[in-house]
Amino acid sequence: MTTVPEIALNNGHTIPQLGFGVFQIDPAETADAVGQALEIGYRHIDTAEMYGNEKGVGEGIRAAGLDRSDVFVTSKLNNGFHRPDDARRAFDQTLADLGFDYVDLFLIHWPLPTLYDGDYVSTWQTLEEFYREGRARSIGVSNFQPSHLRRLAQETQVVPAVNQVEVHPYLDNTEVRAYGADHGIATEAWSPIAQGGVLHDPEITTIADRLGKTPAQVVLRWHVQRGDIIFPKSTTPSRIKENFELFDFELTDADLTAITALDKGEEGRTGPNPDAFDYVPA
Ligand code: NDP
Repeated sequence: MTTVPEIALNNGHTIPQLGFGVFQIDPAETADAVGQALEIGYRHIDTAEMYGNEKGVGEGIRAAGLDRSDVFVTSKLNNGFHRPDDARRAFDQTLADLGFDYVDLFLIHWPLPTLYDGDYVSTWQTLEEFYREGRARSIGVSNFQPSHLRRLAQETQVVPAVNQVEVHPYLDNTEVRAYGADHGIATEAWSPIAQGGVLHDPEITTIADRLGKTPAQVVLRWHVQRGDIIFPKSTTPSRIKENFELFDFELTDADLTAITALDKGEEGRTGPNPDAFDYVPA
């Protein structure tokens, strides 16, 4: 069976470098999709309260008959719950919906610097409580810019274990990744294939043809060799399998450089800019 590399976090825990993301998977189909991923060998699932499918994630893991400790589970605090008391209630609900007494990793989903009087600091201090209690084995952030991370470093105790941000060949997110590398914060790359948007790029298809791999495998392998953590999403069984088969080939340095050179900066973003994003679900 394929062995997925483990990435060491700054607190002594490790995380499988390759996982399975469940954004936009219908809640009713989530347990089944997670079951397929676990069957193939994935041992890391990335969900969020916002995705509405935490229950399905828990069901899928239990139905697979694995020990809880065999699977690394991440969830995230939804945007409406940044005030400390709301965050405590929301975290209790996340654990109840998953049906677990801990998560491996809990993240602030978005910094929302234009909301809550710009206060994501007290939100982070509330996640520090969950960490001290052991109900979140690791805590981290998502969509944090270097300025947000600098503020946490000045005003709080625990350094985030990860920062989960948009990264793919069209958005390198260079400064955010560099801040993480310099401060012991692992980068998790969301939308690693830009939801399919990079797969027809001639630079990528040429490399894929040469190696006899698919464009998705080439892009996911590029992330792996750069050291980022990824969790591509698919509900197509053949793709769930394809996205796991990344460890029997290597890209050359020239391949890595050519793919990295596809970066379009801000223009390459598929999602919102975290400095402006202020969506709160009704
Ligand atoms: P991905 O980059 O993983 O792309 C998913 C899309 O690509 C789906 O439409 C899927 O289609 C298709 N696809 C998957 N594999 C292949 C393949 N091998 N060949 C061709 N097409 C393929 O996008 P996501 O936005 O889902 O990102 C991955 C995960 O990152 C999410 O599930 C979530 O866990 C996380 N995320 C976090 C965010 C945050 O703010 N923290 C924001 C966005 C994502 P199909 O399913 O039909 O096969």
